[in-house]
Amino acid sequence: MLNRLLDENKIKELRKLLETCDNIVITSHIAPDGDAIGSSLGLAGVLNAIGKTVKVITPDMPPRNLMFLPGAKEIVVYSKYSEFAEKLIHDADLIFALDYNDLKRIDKVGDAVASATAPKVMIDHHLMPSDFVDVKISHPEVSSTSMLVFRVLCRLELFPYIDKNVAACIFTGMMTDTGNFSYNSNDPDLYVVISELLKKGINKDAIYSKVYNSNTADRLRLNGYAIAQKMKVYENYRGALITLTRDELNSFHYQKGDTESLVNMPLSVPELVFSFFLREENDYIKVSSRSKGNFPVNKICEDHFNGGGHKNAAGGEFFGSMDDAIARFEQVIPDYLHLIEDCK
Ligand code: 5GP
Ligand code: MN
Repeated sequence: MLNRLLDENKIKELRKLLETCDNIVITSHIAPDGDAIGSSLGLAGVLNAIGKTVKVITPDMPPRNLMFLPGAKEIVVYSKYSEFAEKLIHDADLIFALDYNDLKRIDKVGDAVASATAPKVMIDHHLMPSDFVDVKISHPEVSSTSMLVFRVLCRLELFPYIDKNVAACIFTGMMTDTGNFSYNSNDPDLYVVISELLKKGINKDAIYSKVYNSNTADRLRLNGYAIAQKMKVYENYRGALITLTRDELNSFHYQKGDTESLVNMPLSVPELVFSFFLREENDYIKVSSRSKGNFPVNKICEDHFNGGGHKNAAGGEFFGSMDDAIARFEQVIPDYLHLIEDCK
């Protein structure tokens, strides 16, 4: 049995909304990850099974290593099919917002969602959820939105509709948002849910392999280069910074997702407490950061890089040159060093 977590009133409201709707749209965040895709496809699978028409919309393409998930090929990608996506959102009679806390996280899809008349339901685990929804199921203490979706489905008495395909989607989100159960993963309920998903017939070892053993030779070389040549360790700060320019990325035939876990690597050094990665995009610098313990990288991203996120995993954007972004990083980090506690 899972500990009771969700507010009964919200479940009641959601149940009522589901009774009266036929056309459902599920939206998730830009650069969708395993949790965004897993939670969306998992929820879509069950809603389909109870007879609803469901479309999943993402602002841009899901990464290649998630395309094996059941339903991934039917996702409507806004950057490719914007008019179709806008029509779906306009015509929907219920809209879900999964794995994001603010409309700015869904980029241009946000305008369509904001102007849609359908009721909106958030299921999310990011801090500081904003107020664009009618039903807000927000639990930052839960490690993944996929796990929250599982809980919501159980409380709606839809557990029997979770089949092997839905279970695979939910498991993928739980696995990727905890780094294969290596952080945010001490909640005993996590393993209760995994046990239930295994009973639905998933092959967790195969899912792991499909998600994580998906390197290309170029990708391996790019990551090797980044660590060997472009990782600066600030021993006094107990932090590291990795930077990659457009030219460097191009020389390794960079494809989206190729640097997915790079920012985590410096944290495998016990002495290091935080890690930043700056990747040059066409018109801005994408910032990605990770930390251990109480060091709040989301605060640094909020204060200086137009972003935010979780305490230990955050990101943002810098509008300027790579050199300026590095200078900004080096200039502001000393202001936060007092927040480093012993993280071992
Ligand atoms: P990643 O480093 O994997 O791209 O992002 C890690 C986390 O940081 C995401 O789950 C999200 O919560 C947050 N994040 C990443 N980029 C941004 C951004 O541009 N703005 C905000 N507000 N959060 C971001
Ligand atoms: Mn998530």
